[in-house]
Amino acid sequence: MNPKPSIRLQPSEALQPTAAPMPTDSAQHWCSPFDANGLFTAVKVFVTQSAYAIMCVHAAGDMENETGGILVGRRYIDNETNEEFIVIENALPARHTRQGNVFLTFTQDTIVTFHNEIEERYPDKQIVGWYHTHPRMGIFLSHYDTWLHNHFFPEPWQVALVIEPHKKLGGFFIRQTDGDFDPTRYFGFYELEINPQWSIVHWNNLQRVDGNNHEGG
Ligand SMILES: [Zn+2]
Repeated sequence: MNPKPSIRLQPSEALQPTAAPMPTDSAQHWCSPFDANGLFTAVKVFVTQSAYAIMCVHAAGDMENETGGILVGRRYIDNETNEEFIVIENALPARHTRQGNVFLTFTQDTIVTFHNEIEERYPDKQIVGWYHTHPRMGIFLSHYDTWLHNHFFPEPWQVALVIEPHKKLGGFFIRQTDGDFDPTRYFGFYELEINPQWSIVHWNNLQRVDGNNHEGG
């Protein structure tokens, strides 16, 4: 047997964000009720449709117990506006978790397994956050969730997603530019897609923002 691996920083954690224009033209913006409150998040969140589908299928796979995993993607900076954003390209369900209907917790083994997996399978990507479900609860972070977030996902650009699979709700918890982190206020995201007319987002608490307003109304 190998000695028990210790947590290693993934090499990609040293990567600076890649310079790229924010892909708002090929995305649809979904807003939470808190997006309009004048809060400035440290990053904007883009989610590919395939990553969204993976998370939703996983979330719906256990309607009684909390379940979750990590969000894999890349960091970017828009060099015109200096705004940072992440693109979530994949979601990996956690295997070494303790599940119960009240809480989900990542263990040390979960994190080590993920770091190794990213290093081997996605060397150009990073852990940009985590997700978990709150069956029959609301969209918030518990004290314990907040502790997990700060302990395992401390970077300003790492986010926490909560999904409620019964009522079909979802929201991202994102640190603000001043470092503030509010476990009761969640944000929406940009759905990244090829055809802007085609959406797969079905969370009832988010509102689609029509940036172009071509259809009137
Ligand atoms: Zn929770």
